[in-house]
Amino acid sequence: MLTGRSLLVHCSANQALRCAPIARRAHAGLVISPYRHNESGLLATAAFLLRQRGFDAPLLLDAARYAGANRLPASAPFNPRWLRRQRELGLPVLTDSGYVDSGDEAGLISILHRTMAVPGAIAVLPLHPAWLRDRLHLTALTGHVRDAGVPVALVLEARHDPFGLPGCVPGLLEVLGCGVPTLLLRSDLSSLGALCHGAVAAAVGTVGALRHLAPREAVGGHPPPGPRPPSTIFKPTMSYRRISAIQRGKRGHPDPRLWACDCPVCEGRDLDWMAGLDEREREVPAFEHAAAVLYTLREELLGDEVPLHRAARSWAARCADAAYRERELHWPITPMLRHWRETAPAPAALPLAS
Ligand SMILES: [Zn+2]
Repeated sequence: MLTGRSLLVHCSANQALRCAPIARRAHAGLVISPYRHNESGLLATAAFLLRQRGFDAPLLLDAARYAGANRLPASAPFNPRWLRRQRELGLPVLTDSGYVDSGDEAGLISILHRTMAVPGAIAVLPLHPAWLRDRLHLTALTGHVRDAGVPVALVLEARHDPFGLPGCVPGLLEVLGCGVPTLLLRSDLSSLGALCHGAVAAAVGTVGALRHLAPREAVGGHPPPGPRPPSTIFKPTMSYRRISAIQRGKRGHPDPRLWACDCPVCEGRDLDWMAGLDEREREVPAFEHAAAVLYTLREELLGDEVPLHRAARSWAARCADAAYRERELHWPITPMLRHWRETAPAPAALPLAS
């Protein structure tokens, strides 16, 4: 079901019907997470409704029990009814894992072993970033993932973009080299990097809260914070920017070729057209534009069957170009661009042209 290096849309249950048309195309699909804790019943209902309305693209349900102020630890048992429910709906089975804290190797092993006992299940691994950044953690992680041999879906915790942290990009590449089918959930542009390096699927969140796993101290014991002003992707710099920042950037560099967007949402307008909308009305076009850019980039990088070594090289080159553009615009360089740029193979290691 998940083949061809799919770029998925990761949305909350209340956004699922609106996101379905975006995710209904080749090499696409949908991941649905609850908006609040303990809403897995709503996920199943959303999935049922989508299938009833003919949504036939890949669909995954992420119970997200690893998230929020009341998150569960990695040792928490799976809910067998939830695993069964996904199967009854004809979906790939994602485990409803708890959070794997730094140093919780027993918890990590426990998730992988319990997944081995569920035929065809994908082990969701919601990881403290030390699992990718720290050598001892990473060696343990890749060893256990190889031994278990089950497909894994990574979710990375960070206050902002986890791939902006030093060590996370090379750590991800080591996990992708383990030889098990690997997915990346709750991500942003780095999902494209993951796909270019062999991930089976990678999901981009519709809103900031679904583009990484917020640390518990950032969530606190309060209800989820209100929506933040939406950001969207500025394609030349391959980075998320607030609409207001895009507007200011254009004032400083009014080059029409740079700001116009011909995606189906912008229809040739300059990207700062969204600044004319009420702030609450910006969220939908901001994501629809971002999705259009992401699927265009996916097509340009991976097409139907671009060989991975070539896709990985193009991705590193794109990141280098984007970082250069950011410098030109006097924007701070997005750290993940720097980290992905460094994955370019050294010239001596490039295969000889034939
Ligand atoms: Zn656009």
